[in-house]
Amino acid sequence: SQEPLAQLIEKPEAQRFYKQRQKYDHKGTYGHALIVAGSYGKIGAAFLSAKSVLRAGAGLVSCFIPECGYAIIQSSLPEAMVITDKEDDLITDIKINFTPSAIGIGMGIGTNKETVAALEKLLKETKSPLVIDADGLNCLAENKSLLKLLPKNTVLTPHLGELERLVGKWKNDYDRIKKTKSFAKKYGAVMVVKGANTMTVFEDKIYINTTGNPGMATAGSGDVLTGLITGLLSQGYDPLLASVFAVYLHGSAGNIASQEISFEAVMASDIVDRIGLAFI
Ligand code: AMP
Ligand code: MG
Repeated sequence: SQEPLAQLIEKPEAQRFYKQRQKYDHKGTYGHALIVAGSYGKIGAAFLSAKSVLRAGAGLVSCFIPECGYAIIQSSLPEAMVITDKEDDLITDIKINFTPSAIGIGMGIGTNKETVAALEKLLKETKSPLVIDADGLNCLAENKSLLKLLPKNTVLTPHLGELERLVGKWKNDYDRIKKTKSFAKKYGAVMVVKGANTMTVFEDKIYINTTGNPGMATAGSGDVLTGLITGLLSQGYDPLLASVFAVYLHGSAGNIASQEISFEAVMASDIVDRIGLAFI
């Protein structure tokens, strides 16, 4: 029988993705995730994504941030551990002394050339499942030679602006899907194309999400999604499943928040704090 062109993800599909916790599980079972995010004035990106990692159920999270964010994260998110770059305002060299169960990188890091070099080194060295978002994607788009370093099954989470920088201008919706598919194939990536009805593309598969609302068009909303995917990867979900399930949960959390406080009032923090209610 013919594979459907695209699969809609609604509640029954999402329920099948969910992996229940077992009685004798412990922190170690759920991994130690790493968030690499932030620059001067954008430390909030690290806060939102790291909090989301924990709400997604990871055992531990460490944040790698510029020095200027140290006190901010330690006091706003005491559950997280913090490692700082030698630079005050930027990420320039990602030095860590553990093997992360998953890494989420890119939110608010800028595209300074020292930051690009730090990303390049990470791509060459890491064996951890990886999510790249936001300025991490912009670093790749501005330095296309880095793309061939992407480990297979890396998750990329562009909104349409970031997608265009990666795959080039498209003529219409059909052409956008075609370009996204060929990019995903070329680099072995899971492409999460964000917007209303976020589309996840991997190999020949396309998944269309059904949750979410325009209340989620707000600062930091995408950072929360990256944390959620990283948190699921950390618990051993495979990259495609982690992406599709996280997109569904993120949209559900956004729906719950909007029903409570209106589309207009929803902020990214409200989405993080409803992740728990979104789990099925
Ligand atoms: P970002 O632009 O990186 O902050 O990501 C925005 C997040 O909010 C993505 O997960 C989008 O899918 C979601 N989002 C933004 N606008 C909408 C919308 N109109 N309907 C549903 N989800 C949305
Ligand atoms: Mg974003």
